[in-house]
Amino acid sequence: MEGPVVDISKLLMLDGRVALITGAGSGIGKAAAILFAQAGAKVGLVGRDAKELEDSQQEVGGDTLAITADVSCPVDMERAVSQLVERFQRLDVVVANAGINGVWAPLESLEPAEWNETIGVNLTGTFLTMKYAVPHLRQTHGNIIVNASINGTRVFSNCGATAYACSKAAQVSLTKMAALELARDGIRVNVICPGSIETPIHGKTVQRELENVSAAVEYPEGTVPLTHGKVGAAEDVAQLMLFLASDAAKHITGTEMWIDGGESLLMG
Ligand code: NAD
Repeated sequence: MEGPVVDISKLLMLDGRVALITGAGSGIGKAAAILFAQAGAKVGLVGRDAKELEDSQQEVGGDTLAITADVSCPVDMERAVSQLVERFQRLDVVVANAGINGVWAPLESLEPAEWNETIGVNLTGTFLTMKYAVPHLRQTHGNIIVNASINGTRVFSNCGATAYACSKAAQVSLTKMAALELARDGIRVNVICPGSIETPIHGKTVQRELENVSAAVEYPEGTVPLTHGKVGAAEDVAQLMLFLASDAAKHITGTEMWIDGGESLLMG
């Protein structure tokens, strides 16, 4: 039986498409912006740090628009999406990537404001990114990629990272709810769950009194089986994002994909 002829060289290309990537000023978001631009997309780089975005825009090259916005702020995100669509006249791919590790601390010392900050950026920010993008994705039968984590989805041994893990678990639920709701419009929604990836995020984590809540048992050495302990690179994650954004993934929706060199299978 003969199927349709597929041009493999074009399968991962995003020519003529417009992508919005949040948190594009650093780490995984920046790597995705670079790769998507190389694949032919026009890219909207969204983030809350204007200087970081400007530097990233230089590195990405191609046809881009940098938009300073806080993903946890509805007014900002509504404006960010309209600015992008006004500039490029369409929206095909959304990468809800911006996120923070926030404060890692025992439950009784974690302040409600610290909890709200992490949930606000990681979960509400993902919701707002989707909410304002959906009307435009309906026009293009576009797709959404959410960046969650192994934490809260397969790994529960990072004691103190409770707000982070809960925000990441909820991103998976949000993806699945949205995938079914939006399937009738031909919009795909998927979520990726990276393990340890080398980016600046780790230096921004606030850790407090964790000695009081260490896991009952700890692995003595190495946590990434596939690479003998070496953590992943932002570019590894960007490649998975490109695959999900492209026509090569046209029948994939509502799915979480772990990208961690087997780390979460070992750590749990
Ligand atoms: P990073 O700190 O390098 O980049 C995060 C970006 O998000 C930064 O540009 C930052 O300015 C931006 N940002 C933060 N809060 C924002 C807000 N309120 N509004 C707009 N922009 C905001 O981190 P990264 O490692 O590239 O992380 C990207 C995503 O990947 C996060 O959602 C993170 O949880 C997830 N992740 C990272 C790892 C890892 O090991 N690096 C593992 C699993 C999941």
